[in-house]
Amino acid sequence: MTTRRSPLASLLLALVATVAAAAVGAQGSGDQWLDLMEVAARWKANVSYDPLTGTGHVLRGSDLVRFKVDYPVFSVGQGTALRATAIKDAGTRLGIRTDAVHAIEAWFAERDAERASHFSVAAILIDPGHGGKDPGAIGEFGSGKDRLRVAEKDVVLAIGREVYDRLVERWPDKRILISRGGDTFPTLDERVEMANDVQLGINEAIIYVSIHANASFNKSASGFEVWYLNPEYRRSVVDPKKAEGVDEHVLPILNAMLEEEYTTESVFLAKGILGGLDGGVGDVSVNRGLRAEEWFVVRNAKMPSVLVEVGFVTNEDEAKRLSDPDHLRKLGDGIYNGIVEFVDYFEHRKGSSAQ
Ligand SMILES: [Zn+2]
Repeated sequence: MTTRRSPLASLLLALVATVAAAAVGAQGSGDQWLDLMEVAARWKANVSYDPLTGTGHVLRGSDLVRFKVDYPVFSVGQGTALRATAIKDAGTRLGIRTDAVHAIEAWFAERDAERASHFSVAAILIDPGHGGKDPGAIGEFGSGKDRLRVAEKDVVLAIGREVYDRLVERWPDKRILISRGGDTFPTLDERVEMANDVQLGINEAIIYVSIHANASFNKSASGFEVWYLNPEYRRSVVDPKKAEGVDEHVLPILNAMLEEEYTTESVFLAKGILGGLDGGVGDVSVNRGLRAEEWFVVRNAKMPSVLVEVGFVTNEDEAKRLSDPDHLRKLGDGIYNGIVEFVDYFEHRKGSSAQ
């Protein structure tokens, strides 16, 4: 934003400035020369000055501006030079001209913008799907003592708890949440509310990882996949025809996940988790890749959100794996590793590129 002055006002300002420039020290703040101490107070900065050497600095938080009187260069940060009219030692006060004030303020603004770009993931919500009265997908095989019955709600709870425990251990200072820690059934709204209820600072984010297991009439279907929201269609309405062939229990969950400006982050999160799963169980299970479809509908949350399908309970070999605690731990570790990779990326990509 710029402000415009009338020609008359500009002329008057120029006259006042000329007078003030001649009278620095005597009259204090004119439009050209200002009292450094007053300017620093406005910046909430401290000034240090040694009259013997003529050197000093202005310190605003961690932002340091070094100056030498009568020397038209200010050294800022780690030695960047700002050219502007030199500070004058007028005996009872230090005078700083407005061009120098503006140059320093511009640098402060840059520093503020850089700090503002440093996001952190303050909270992570792990959401094991289904639970309680809702078993989710079920796989049943064999009979008698060879009978195998695998319920999605149990598989995803074991995995979710593994992910949750490891995240709590790694980041005791982050808010790590789990939508259910036992065989209970939070409603979809309750799950989403858990995420939306977290109070976040201006540069803080929460990520939402929903964990499910898949089912298919095709008993040979197997493998893991990670869904994220496709921004192109985020305002569209679910079309059941388009969703055909997609595990229908997943629809409302995907619909509840939200996306505004975090689409890119969701893709990175999904890629990280897919990579983590591939590293964990890729030797025994099929990597079905990243998934994003147009029937995603987005309601209203601002967080990177993904939905992980850890495998098919309807595939006998996979059902056996999904009833093996060791395999579930590997799946949990894979998801955990993917989240860690994402958080490191999210929190450090801008900071690490800063000069
Ligand atoms: Zn499910």
